[in-house]
Amino acid sequence: MSNWENNVRKVVPYTPGEQPNVPGMIKLNTNENPYPPSPKVIQAIRDFDTDKLRLYPDPTAGVLVNALAERYQVKPEQVFVGVGSDDVLAMCFLTFFNSGKPILFPDITYSFYDVWADVFRIPYEDQPLDANLCIRKEDYYKENGGVIFPNPNAPTGVLMELSDIEDIIKHNPDVICIVDEAYIDFGGVSALPLIDKYDNLLVVQTFSKSRSMAGSRIGYVFGNERLIKYLNDVKYSFNSYTMDQLTLVTGAASLADEDYFKETLDRIITTRERVKKELSELGFTMPDSKSNFLFISHPRVPAKELFLALREKNIYVRYFDKPRIDNMLRVTIGTDEEMDQFIAFLKEYLC
Ligand SMILES: *Cc1c(COP(=O)(O)O)cnc(C)c1O
Repeated sequence: MSNWENNVRKVVPYTPGEQPNVPGMIKLNTNENPYPPSPKVIQAIRDFDTDKLRLYPDPTAGVLVNALAERYQVKPEQVFVGVGSDDVLAMCFLTFFNSGKPILFPDITYSFYDVWADVFRIPYEDQPLDANLCIRKEDYYKENGGVIFPNPNAPTGVLMELSDIEDIIKHNPDVICIVDEAYIDFGGVSALPLIDKYDNLLVVQTFSKSRSMAGSRIGYVFGNERLIKYLNDVKYSFNSYTMDQLTLVTGAASLADEDYFKETLDRIITTRERVKKELSELGFTMPDSKSNFLFISHPRVPAKELFLALREKNIYVRYFDKPRIDNMLRVTIGTDEEMDQFIAFLKEYLC
């Protein structure tokens, strides 16, 4: 073997959920929103002046940053945007987790965290969720190089109380704590107001789930001005033009349609609560989810068997072949019609 092999940055990559494209499929495997983006987004795309594509986009992403600042009542200097929250989170890891001490995150969580830690050579220690799949805040009180967890957690859907999150932040004044709020709009309380109180807090959100724009790749993070400045310094040392012209205006258009945002969220939450009941009646158990997915298991039928049987019928859900969660399925909340078909299949399969 050649010597260059010794000098490759080797990583085990993150495995994204399948993106099948089968006519008539029911896709409940990657937590996308079943509803289209706001009509204002569609109009912004129609109105887009394509001559703008000759030019580089605004490197400060001003249109989008200002729209976010206004919608969330923060200063533009407290907002950083990127190509999906995956990009934003990766930038945060690179910028803030450099102490050489292990960073902490839950053992059952977003499976990208350990991948970023590995690619950036950041040591980490995962902290086991308790038997009810809840984060134990005390696990995060020890010395560490940084803390990150989603709230609600994924793939469990379990929401943590804001007071518990604040306890974690308070116990970690010397490191950065990141709360990944990819699913917060589906019924949680955001930690955003805490950024004025704690200079070590970053709150990350995304357009991918609650705003029906996974395909646009827009993520953002709120934090105090110094943190945001450090993130921009790293971004400009990497790629100044992360967000394209069209994405900047469509993102701003989405933020301008609060009514549509609320309406589609309400629909998903209503469907989720109904589906929780119907699945319980079929014998499924699940932690109480405040997200747009349910994490279910059945006492009689193994998750993997159900996953494969559903797949045969072009109903896609997510199965994780991992210790502790290999008898559970993560099911995204789709439209009412999609969930009716999903439940009809289960009824027939289980009887
Ligand atoms: C979906 C998801 C993300 C990434 O979202 P993008 O903005 O699409 O990159 C980040 N964190 C968690 C927990 C997620 O589920």
